[in-house]
Amino acid sequence: MKNYFLFALFILSTQINAQIYSLPSLKYSYESYEPFIDAQTMEIHHSKHHQAYVNNLNKAIAGTSLEKISLNELMMYASFRTDAIRNNVGGHYNHSLFWEILSPKEMQSAIITSEFDAAVKAQFGNLDSIKTKLNQAATTRFGSGWAWLIVTPDKKLMITSTQNQDNPIMDVAKDRGIPILGIDVWEHAYYLKYQNKRADYLNAIWNLIDWAIVSEKYNSALNDPLLAQIEKDSWPELKEFHKVMGQTFHPSESGNIEPLRKRSGELMAKAVILNNSVPPASLNKPEIHIALETLEKQCVEIYKLKNKKVKDDFLKKKIAEAHETFHIVQGLCHD
Ligand code: MN
Repeated sequence: MKNYFLFALFILSTQINAQIYSLPSLKYSYESYEPFIDAQTMEIHHSKHHQAYVNNLNKAIAGTSLEKISLNELMMYASFRTDAIRNNVGGHYNHSLFWEILSPKEMQSAIITSEFDAAVKAQFGNLDSIKTKLNQAATTRFGSGWAWLIVTPDKKLMITSTQNQDNPIMDVAKDRGIPILGIDVWEHAYYLKYQNKRADYLNAIWNLIDWAIVSEKYNSALNDPLLAQIEKDSWPELKEFHKVMGQTFHPSESGNIEPLRKRSGELMAKAVILNNSVPPASLNKPEIHIALETLEKQCVEIYKLKNKKVKDDFLKKKIAEAHETFHIVQGLCHD
């Protein structure tokens, strides 16, 4: 009895805490990053700044349905989120990545994965050329932000930068992909030691960047389903259709067919445009084209049915079917 009770408490506690974010510990002591980053900067940066992002993120999602979705989904659809969520989810993710890729020199391994090595050679020649270009991106980032090395949906390396606490996973970023290396260029990352000399901080930080870890991140990014999600999200015709589908299907689920009756023409038009668009490379495959063809037919049928004044329940069933087809292309809805 008692054992079951404890077990029940344990299950409850894991569920309650499941989506509450917490500050990850650093792998090394605050002093270990000297002389390139001073201990005081590390301590304030980690225990005050990052902690504040974590606290504010938890506060922003507390008691909402966003507690139940993943960190990636919170970021992916940043344009749908409040500023508090966008800034703090980015702040938490970006800093977590930053701590992971920094190691004191004596702790770094010189061994990088052969896949990363090949990609670097093919696209940049060598690591030094990546350093130079990343420093350039970091130097020219106006105000606060981050410079990134990312893996794009077509599995290429790319250097880019974002403002504030945005990052390339977010739908607000110009270049999108999975970050494998990020450099914090907020003044709080360097001001105590380097004051206004961002370039000096950037030259020093390379002593701490652990390429072995970056290279492992490259390998995992290549196989991360998030890459395909980002790619779908970068397909404008799909995004446009999704919007109208969401705004007509979701009300119909709770019995409100009016939005669908009003907008079935628009839904059909977006389905035709989507079916005639060119999918991103990795989605350009037979099953997707078949689904788009079916989706167009289903939306045309709904539009015709609407004019025949059929019963609500029948329309509801039809849009649910179209929604099923849409999920073959889109995956799960995010809103
Ligand atoms: Mn920071």
